[in-house]
Amino acid sequence: MARFQQTELTLANPVDMGALPRSSGVYIFKGDGQLPIYIGKSVDIRSRVQAHLRAKDEAEMMAQSRRVEFIETAGEIGALLLESHLIKTLNPIYNIRLRRLRKLCSIQLLEQEGAWVPEIVTGQDLGLGRVDGLYGLFSSRHSAQSKLRELADQHNLCQGLLGLEKLSARGCFGLQVRTCLGACVGKEARHDHDQRLMNALIDLKVHAWPFSGAIDLVEENQGWVQRHRLQDWRYLGTWCSKSNQLPIDVQQSFDLDTYKILVKPIMLGTALVKQLGSKTIGVRSTLISNQ
Ligand SMILES: [Zn+2]
Repeated sequence: MARFQQTELTLANPVDMGALPRSSGVYIFKGDGQLPIYIGKSVDIRSRVQAHLRAKDEAEMMAQSRRVEFIETAGEIGALLLESHLIKTLNPIYNIRLRRLRKLCSIQLLEQEGAWVPEIVTGQDLGLGRVDGLYGLFSSRHSAQSKLRELADQHNLCQGLLGLEKLSARGCFGLQVRTCLGACVGKEARHDHDQRLMNALIDLKVHAWPFSGAIDLVEENQGWVQRHRLQDWRYLGTWCSKSNQLPIDVQQSFDLDTYKILVKPIMLGTALVKQLGSKTIGVRSTLISNQ
């Protein structure tokens, strides 16, 4: 079981505050009952909890909080993964930010007769995290279209060719107001237009999982080791040298928050990663023979 320490949060008693560790981890505010009020994470649990107590705009939340529980982690990535996981499984009333987005949309570039055409794709079958050629993650088709429109404005792209408006023989509306450079009427080479489209989208690229199978992302703190098992950007569990396995629900599908937590440390190579070979990890069990 997880090392799951609990301490009473008594606002008037500074001695109790001293029971909170000055280390990385997740904390849970609870009221009189068992339901969590708020879950947060910090690299310094004690000072973060004290900051909540001082924050004027959080007075209402803190007035309902009687106790704080905490779970220490060996590093910051572990704290972020655990925070995101607990918020989604426990649904605290004051955490709105990390609520599960059920339907994600993305922009996919499709090749049609030698030209690139963006298409807004959605649903479970996207292969999010496994396939290349996806740009941006959006909570709705509408927000994906807004992003395309914004990029079209910034990069002088043709909204007709992007599928955002109907094209007539005289070209798109942008041609009249000179935001389109004329790819829709052959005034600009389609290749040049598509090159700008690619450049506009590159920062939004959704990275495919760069390993052939599962990995352990290892965090270590003064001899205390935690290994977070991951595959296709899904969080499968944590093995901890102090408490063995942290009990978590294995993520069955792509999750935006988990992706955002992991994409930088993994793509920039700043995290310590141990590859586990090409074996696919079953979703029912997080245990794997290491060969
Ligand atoms: Zn145009």
